[in-house]
Amino acid sequence: MKFKQTLAALLCGIILLGTAGCGPSPATGSKKDSGSGSAGAPGSAQTAGSTDGSAVPTGGLEEEKNPIPQGDKYMAITFDDGPTGNEGGRTERLLDGLKARGVHATFFLCGYRIKDFHSMAKRYLEEGHELGNHTMDHLLLDREVSDGGLQQVGSNSELIASYTGEKPTVMRPTGGAYNDTVRASMKQLGLPIILWSVDTLDWKYRDASNVKTRIVENAQDGAIVLSHDLYETTVEGVLTAIDELQAQGYAFVTVSELAQLKDVTLEPGEVYTDFTYETLHPADAEPASQPESDGTEPTEAEPPAA
Ligand SMILES: [Zn+2]
Repeated sequence: MKFKQTLAALLCGIILLGTAGCGPSPATGSKKDSGSGSAGAPGSAQTAGSTDGSAVPTGGLEEEKNPIPQGDKYMAITFDDGPTGNEGGRTERLLDGLKARGVHATFFLCGYRIKDFHSMAKRYLEEGHELGNHTMDHLLLDREVSDGGLQQVGSNSELIASYTGEKPTVMRPTGGAYNDTVRASMKQLGLPIILWSVDTLDWKYRDASNVKTRIVENAQDGAIVLSHDLYETTVEGVLTAIDELQAQGYAFVTVSELAQLKDVTLEPGEVYTDFTYETLHPADAEPASQPESDGTEPTEAEPPAA
């Protein structure tokens, strides 16, 4: 059984400014995010019985090493466009903060960033996070390449594996933009396409309390949050939101863990925005309560990062 749902398009742009202390490549990145997605079919779910918010093993080698965090409700926070910085850098501070809180997250990594910033590459998997592919050069796969991303995503997977030991298991297209060619290419590469249901607009406001508020106010069991480990304000805002939501019973897991917890089997080439009840059971759902957009998304993106 398979569910598909197309959601309203979201647009977002990103400007990567040279980030102090983050080394070379004063990148000018771009992002133009449009959302559309579907939820996949039920698969093998594993849930464990702890109710105290602590992590408990749920079986399997992977879980024994990095047990899925346990809560009453689950969300996945994702970080695009990183890594940022090496030792003492932004991504390292973020990883420290996530580790201190027992959080798993999904990092959609750009190859051109990893080339500069890879000193913490081994930490992702060691600390239970998930590797995601966000293209080698942050190119728009629906219009800036002709092969649907085969080369941009395929080469980035190889690069990520060379630093982390494993290829990514999920991908997010630049700007969330995809078409049938992109889907076919990602199917060929074995990668599910992951979008999001909560947009922090962190690139736009660069304000920690704004990031926190957007996450907390749109929190929902099964939601996927979009943010970028490019900004100090994002690191601060996300960690503050996590503190607040953990106190409400939320646990933060990777996208693949969230799918597993919600009985969804991620399929290569399929598009997913979230695993909320409304998305997984559209026939039963109350009238849609979509995460709002503030209606002020930019209509133009900066040129893609080199
Ligand atoms: Zn991006």
